[in-house]
Amino acid sequence: MRQVLEAGLPALGLDTAAIPALERFAEMLLQRNRVMNLTAITEPRDVAALHLLDSLALISLAGLEDGSAVDVGTGAGFPGLPLAIVRPRLQVTLLDSLGKRVGFLREVCETLGVTNAECVQGRAEEFAAERREVYDWAVSRAVAALPVLCELCLPLVRVGGYFLAMKSSHTEAEIEQAGGAVRILGGRIAWIRDYTIPTTEVVHRVVCVEKVAGTPKKYPRRFAQMKKTPL
Ligand code: SAM
Repeated sequence: MRQVLEAGLPALGLDTAAIPALERFAEMLLQRNRVMNLTAITEPRDVAALHLLDSLALISLAGLEDGSAVDVGTGAGFPGLPLAIVRPRLQVTLLDSLGKRVGFLREVCETLGVTNAECVQGRAEEFAAERREVYDWAVSRAVAALPVLCELCLPLVRVGGYFLAMKSSHTEAEIEQAGGAVRILGGRIAWIRDYTIPTTEVVHRVVCVEKVAGTPKKYPRRFAQMKKTPL
C-alpha cells in the first residue's frame, strides 16, 4: 500500500505527507469490511490505487483547494474522505443514506482527527430541502446513471459551482442521455476528462457540470420518480 501511495501521490502533484492518514483510513476500512459490507476491493494495494488514488485524481483535474463540497452517496468515503484528508481547507459533507456506513465514517474522522468533514445520514433528494444550492462542489462516484445523478447532485450546488461525476470510460451514451437533465437542472457540461489512475492502467472519466442557472423548485423529485422517468 505504501509503495503505491508513494508513487501515486506525486504523480497526481500531491505531497506524500498525507500517507499515514490515508493508510490508517485504509486499514480501518479493511478491518471493518470483515464484519460490514463496505467494499468489494480487499487487496491493500488495490484499495490504495482504486479507492484512494482514484478519489484524489479529482484534485489533479479540478483543484478543490477550498470552499465546500458534498459527496453524494459516499459509501465508505469515496471520493470525499481522501479529499478531506488531503485538502484541510475544503469543508466536505459525506452524505449517504445508509446509517452504518455513515457511522463508520464518523469513527474514521474521529480517529484521524479529520475536522473538515461532516458525516450525514440522509438521502440526497431530501437533503436538498436543507442545503439547496449552497455547495461550491458536488462530487459522486458509482451511485447512479448520469441523468438521475444530476437530479440528485445539481440541486445542492450553488450557481457558479460545479458537479464532478466520476464515471468509467466508454460512457458516451450515458453522457449523451444526460444532456436534457443537465440543461433542465441549470447545468452546462464544462469539460469531460479521462485519466489513468497512477500505478495502474485503469482509465476513468470525470464529467464536470457547471451550474449556470438555478434549479427549478420542482427538482429533485422523489427517487422512484427520477428512476421511472429520468429527465
Ligand atoms: N461512492 C462510493 C464509492 O464510489 O465507493 C460508494 C458507492 S456505492 C455503490 C453507492 C452508495 O450510494 C451507497 O452507499 C448508497 O447507500 C448510496 N446512495 C444511493 N442512493 C442514494 C441517495 N439517493 N442519497 C444518498 N445516498 C445514496
